[in-house]
Amino acid sequence: MNILDLQLPTKSSDYQILIGKDLLSDSNNFSSVIKGQQVFIVSNETVAPLYLKVLKNSLSQYETHSYILKDGEKYKSLGSLEDILDSMLKVGLRRNATLIALGGGVVGDISGFAAAIYQRGISFIQVPTTLLSQVDSSVGGKTAVNHPSGKNMLGAFHQPVRVVTDLNTLKTLPKREFLAGVAEIIKASVIADRDFFEWLELNTESILAQESATLATMIQRACGIKAKIVSLDEKEQGVRAWLNLGHTFGHAIERALGFGKLLHGEAVAIGMVMAAEYSVKLGLLSPSESVAIKRLTQGFGLPTNIETQVDDVSTSELVSAMALDKKNVDTDLTLILPKAIGKVTIEHNIKTQDVEQFIEQYLE
Ligand code: NAD
Ligand code: MG
Repeated sequence: MNILDLQLPTKSSDYQILIGKDLLSDSNNFSSVIKGQQVFIVSNETVAPLYLKVLKNSLSQYETHSYILKDGEKYKSLGSLEDILDSMLKVGLRRNATLIALGGGVVGDISGFAAAIYQRGISFIQVPTTLLSQVDSSVGGKTAVNHPSGKNMLGAFHQPVRVVTDLNTLKTLPKREFLAGVAEIIKASVIADRDFFEWLELNTESILAQESATLATMIQRACGIKAKIVSLDEKEQGVRAWLNLGHTFGHAIERALGFGKLLHGEAVAIGMVMAAEYSVKLGLLSPSESVAIKRLTQGFGLPTNIETQVDDVSTSELVSAMALDKKNVDTDLTLILPKAIGKVTIEHNIKTQDVEQFIEQYLE
């Protein structure tokens, strides 16, 4: 088992991420951080039939309840949150209870938010079952639900007391979802760790073959990068924005295509390659490093080109979608751009017309 100790500036919220095989069936991974007698598990209708039983077996010493969400991003809503909270109240969950999120980022985000507000906050364990949630949403303490006006509009910062990443769960994850997680991992390496980027190049085959030892190392290193950035900026006032590399272009692509056509990670893969190419254009990144980023992304079978995705979307639609990005305070754009593999810069005041021109060339 690999263990990553997460240390955040608010010391009371330090916790461990455990990564390995067969972790769900070992009750010690949970009991060492469960204080009260009550456990409330939130999962969804896809994940629960696969893993709820084994988790419940490990928790047999506790009074255990569960709530099963429908599957899908659209259920990360205030309505579902209210249902979860109703159910927690109905079973008489006390303040010293522990909530466990068993599922991907959707389950993790909504459960974390429920734990943050239930009786002003109860203890919470993440059991992430998608690669994306293992390396991204389970680190950093952001919890949320969506609102019709936007994604993650309502939420809170609430750190888990533990993350239990059981590699066995990845065996049932659809390949496309797995690769979407890889996209965020490549992104992390481009932001902050050249050595890890080279490791990903060397280990591409073994990652695609899902060899456990390789996956454990990969997940630990990716979480480590995110944890380091988050610990520098827990409440997102500065460097945490680095994590948005590829996301301004990526969100624009998702929005312009209509959410759901591409997985978020796929859009980020294209967005990251676009950001690298834009950075070359501004003279910030060497062409050879941009090529290396594209090559690694393609090496995993991820999309790197909007052309093939957006024949029916205009440049101006993409640009106006980008201007709507939360990070842009006025009409100019802010972009996170790589300066080298392992280093990024936050560039403000990027002219909308310049980006428009760049996308036009991209679409030619
Ligand atoms: P998801 O939770 O929707 O899971 C993707 C799909 O895989 C779902 O259909 C799910 O039921 C299924 N699934 C999950 N585990 C499985 C398994 N082991 N076997 C088979 N199927 C499985 O999506 P996601 O990509 O994990 O997470 C996306 C969400 O995470 C978004 O809502 C996003 O906003 C959020 N997010 C949050 C943060 C954060 O910091 N809190 C960071 C990134 C993303
Ligand atoms: Mg993302």
